[in-house]
Amino acid sequence: MMFRRKTWSSKRLWHCEMNASVPQVTARTAALPWQLLQAPPSWRNIDFISDLHLQDGAVATFCAWQDFMQTTQADAVFILGDLFEVWVGDDIFKPEQAQAFETRCAQVLKSASQRLDIFFMHGNRDFLLGAEFAKICGMALIGDPAVLEFAGQSWLLSHGDALCLMDTDYMAFRAQVRGVKWQQEFLARPLAQRLEIARELRAQSETRKRSGVVYSDVDNTEACNWLHTAKASHLIHGHTHKPADHELGDNLRRVVLSDWDAAGKPPRVEVLRLTLKAAASHQTGSCSIRRITTDLA
Ligand code: MN
Repeated sequence: MMFRRKTWSSKRLWHCEMNASVPQVTARTAALPWQLLQAPPSWRNIDFISDLHLQDGAVATFCAWQDFMQTTQADAVFILGDLFEVWVGDDIFKPEQAQAFETRCAQVLKSASQRLDIFFMHGNRDFLLGAEFAKICGMALIGDPAVLEFAGQSWLLSHGDALCLMDTDYMAFRAQVRGVKWQQEFLARPLAQRLEIARELRAQSETRKRSGVVYSDVDNTEACNWLHTAKASHLIHGHTHKPADHELGDNLRRVVLSDWDAAGKPPRVEVLRLTLKAAASHQTGSCSIRRITTDLA
């Protein structure tokens, strides 16, 4: 085996009874249609990232992400979709190829998972990342949306594409490709064919981008509906590549993560961090939300 089995510190034991190799903080309540994640009392800092679009060849972004995963002082990292530019099935991962891009990514995740908890939500680029690969990486797959209880409040987490209701073509495409039947048929195709299809889709997407098409944004009314359902005040999401803090009224907020491009001018390597304030407990709450830029040096 190339990966060593995860060794758990005693402070984390309480939430990994079900499977010692993957963080388990999930439960489902009757009152909520979505997955509920309860932060362990020991968590003080949580990092959120999304839309890194990691790919072989984008070396600067991979290195910045690797550096972040190796050095973050957070207790948990939530990856809210599109970690990978494309993922056509877990069989792309060939552990015997030590220098392959996917192997290096898995090593970064596995190594980080030895000292912090990693949660992965699918994006529209990497929704075919499966339970098998997630387990190898030591990260827990979570649903979209998911509700996180931390610092005495509920935080609604999503990739964000499911809220771009105005893009009806995409919503139809999404409904299709997120279905079990489509995925079974697609994954049954030879790997080379899947890679070819992915290349075509990306080329189409690039052409569309260059044509100056205006992408639809998250629908604020639906975002408020989701927040009310989750009894949350903050929605944290990515996907749109438009980092901002939107006030939606009624004390509701939509916090949008930045995408990453370490070779961009200026570089984009931003992390959103929640920090439980000193002396605050998870019951009484009180935490700060900050955008931090990882050290590129
Ligand atoms: Mn996306």
